[in-house]
Amino acid sequence: MSRKNQTILITGGGGFLGSHLCERLLDEDHDVICLDNFFTGSKENIRHLLNHSGFELVRHDITWPVYLEVDAIYNMACPASPVHYQHDPVQTTKTSVLGAINLLGMAKRLNIPIMQASTSEVYGDPAVHPQKEEYWGNVNPIGPRSCYDEGKRCAETLFFDYYRQLKVSIKVVRIFNTYGPRMQINDGRVVSNFIVQALKNEDITIYGDGSQTRSFCYVSDMIEAFVKMMATPHEVTGPINLGNPGEFTMIELAEKVIKLTNSKSKLVYKPLPKDDPVRRKPDISKAEKILDWHPKVPLDEGLEKTIAYFKSILKK
Ligand code: UDP
Repeated sequence: MSRKNQTILITGGGGFLGSHLCERLLDEDHDVICLDNFFTGSKENIRHLLNHSGFELVRHDITWPVYLEVDAIYNMACPASPVHYQHDPVQTTKTSVLGAINLLGMAKRLNIPIMQASTSEVYGDPAVHPQKEEYWGNVNPIGPRSCYDEGKRCAETLFFDYYRQLKVSIKVVRIFNTYGPRMQINDGRVVSNFIVQALKNEDITIYGDGSQTRSFCYVSDMIEAFVKMMATPHEVTGPINLGNPGEFTMIELAEKVIKLTNSKSKLVYKPLPKDDPVRRKPDISKAEKILDWHPKVPLDEGLEKTIAYFKSILKK
């Protein structure tokens, strides 16, 4: 990835992370092919890029083969919020597994690097804390989250078999909870839910007793890590954890959001979704060492930027 002006395919380029990555690579003078079926991606996320001379948009579903000539692939395509990936679980597994097969085939044919957006969900409801890459996880194979968790795990298997057997340059990153502008308003995720509820002075929905923890990474930090990972030599395959190790309970998050929005919202308690992980926090020592990367944006600062975004969306 040292040569500039490459043509880079971003699957899921219309999504939250994908659209930020499109922008970043265009800024670096690459040409970008953004591929999306717009199941959860949105044209609004990329509308401002449509007139950019380096930008092309392809409406396509990666569960079907695709033939393009590119220099690198970022595979970001898959619904990622529990509400969306559980809406059509069969399609979710197909997206991860058939999508990986189709794109790895392309990477092999073209002899180009491919990055897989994997997930902290491969650790399931982790019995080890914080999660290191060596931990194999605690995943229910037949639950409501399995379509996503097992789909992503199988995709990792395919990536590593293409590396070992067919010498494809793979880059597997395990993304922990990430937030920022362009999260979908109806995504069902905790950061977007809490901010939208607080801005509307509606009740803030805490699932369970709110003592479960997550670690939240601001989107710009995550995109920086993707670009650094793609620039690594063939031998660097990952899997590598990417996230912000700051750990917060959902109650703490709700209190922060209420404070930053000056909201009158009250907390209400709802049942905890099945198989909801109790604790999650990445061990990012590998990313720090291999990528010389550390997230820079503290939660309060990232929340302020995200709140500003949702304020502008709610005004429309
Ligand atoms: N959550 C919550 N209220 C909401 C949405 C989510 O308390 O309105 C909780 C959810 O049960 C989980 C955590 O927040 O424990 C993070 O949920 P999210 O869907 O954002 O992502 P996950 O990490 O579970 O994939």
